[in-house]
Amino acid sequence: MQPTHNINNYVQFQLGLAKGPTTCGACTKPCDPRGDHMVKCPNRGYLTSRHNTVQATVYRICKEARCPSVKTEQLLRDRQCPLPQTTDKQRMDLVITQHDGSKIMADVTGTHPTHDDRPGEPRNLTNQRPGSALRVAEKRKRDVYAVACARGGYMLLPLTFESYGRWSSTMETFLHKLGKAVNEAHYRDDRDFSTGRVVARCV
Ligand SMILES: [Zn+2]
Repeated sequence: MQPTHNINNYVQFQLGLAKGPTTCGACTKPCDPRGDHMVKCPNRGYLTSRHNTVQATVYRICKEARCPSVKTEQLLRDRQCPLPQTTDKQRMDLVITQHDGSKIMADVTGTHPTHDDRPGEPRNLTNQRPGSALRVAEKRKRDVYAVACARGGYMLLPLTFESYGRWSSTMETFLHKLGKAVNEAHYRDDRDFSTGRVVARCV
């Protein structure tokens, strides 16, 4: 198995079309038969690579939308947003100044709703209600970061997605807003332009 797992392999395991590895090739942990670990593996698993892709794509779209400022991997402590409960090395994926001057800290988070890798855990109920994995992930981010971000004058924007493709409404609304700004910046006379084309780049 290659270290970078791809979602197609994973879906094949889930459907019983392919047999997964017993041990993860990236971190050497044992694998569950349906491959849930391979999606979540912190060592170059699907969620990690998708996180990096979404982060880079949102960064590029912000640039195209001519946001006054957009930066990646910013230390919270440098933004006057101290987090008392964690280390001072905590970073935010994207720090953005919008056209109206408001400031955003965007945290990209991927989550996976099924848990054969950790059977029996009470919090593993996200496979039973559509969208609940997203809601759990978004709440967790708000609980950790929202107050600290507000201290520095930033609004926290969790950009959350599920491994199977679902996005949070927060992320969808933000991407559409960026799409409109890209339209304003470059395509005002292009009748064929649609904000959906910009949004779809994050799919
Ligand atoms: Zn692993």
